[in-house]
Amino acid sequence: MQEECMQLVQSVLFGIQAYWAQLFIIPSKVIKLIDAHCRSYVWSGTNTITKKALVAWERVCSPKSVGGLNLINLHSWNKAAIAKHCWDLEHKQDKLWIKWVHSYYIKRTPFQEVIISQQACWMVKKILEARQVYSQFQPIVLQNKSMIRQLYFHLFRPQQRVPWKCLMFQNFARPKAVFTMWLQLQNRLNTTDRLKKWGLDIELKCVLCRLHLQSRDHMYTRCPYSQQVWSKLLQWIQFVQAPYNNWSQYVLGIIDAAKGKTPTAQIFKLVYTEYVYAIWIERNHRIFEKDSRTWESLAREIAYICCVRASQKTMQAIHHLDC
Ligand SMILES: [Zn+2]
Repeated sequence: MQEECMQLVQSVLFGIQAYWAQLFIIPSKVIKLIDAHCRSYVWSGTNTITKKALVAWERVCSPKSVGGLNLINLHSWNKAAIAKHCWDLEHKQDKLWIKWVHSYYIKRTPFQEVIISQQACWMVKKILEARQVYSQFQPIVLQNKSMIRQLYFHLFRPQQRVPWKCLMFQNFARPKAVFTMWLQLQNRLNTTDRLKKWGLDIELKCVLCRLHLQSRDHMYTRCPYSQQVWSKLLQWIQFVQAPYNNWSQYVLGIIDAAKGKTPTAQIFKLVYTEYVYAIWIERNHRIFEKDSRTWESLAREIAYICCVRASQKTMQAIHHLDC
């Protein structure tokens, strides 16, 4: 559900970015309103503005390498578009509006030293204010990337890259599975330990094993039910996982196995993502539908989906595997 809303929002934001933001500077008030509508739609599925969210919008709208979902951050895109105008002012002098700004405001002063006059129009002020945005920016002319896009990614450079970024790129799993794994990696799935913290009165036992308290760490690293599914899948893809004692060790092992472009890494990434999703759905089914499946049937279903999803190249590597 959230994943489907995400795809629609992505295309809306893409449209705004590809068309309006290239032509005009969008006022920040308008951006805030667009963001509020998109955010509410993703997290609640309605058009009413709500504050409900599992992950901050700022994070959702950031590149995958820094932990986001690569939705366009309109605020940053707008900043990049303004900075592009700024770069044009300094480097291109053939356009009419640039000649106009030069003769009225810049008047042969070195560009970085131009003082922003109080009387200057709103647009010129905004453009001149953007000078520091691109101060360390070196455009790469050879790459087939627009300068606004380059400036946009340049803005995210100071942010720290997430160690699990390899799981988010080139992942052949279904988008809804990737989305669930993305929440799982950040511990944002609504597991009962988290719901309890919000004051909800609910059954705390894990519905998969009915033995221990439910948390993300339990569900994916210690739960006997999940362990059986996971071991079966590992055996299927003939992968030996390093032993682990806690979530951090577990996730490091997952990252290590999913790194790189080899078919083995691709298969591992696909299987892990679909596994995370299937466990989460099984948990929800047990709670809301009072319906359950055996670990064998769940493992079989995951394997089947992975066979369908794997790319041709990856398939060659797993042709010996029996779905
Ligand atoms: Zn359990």
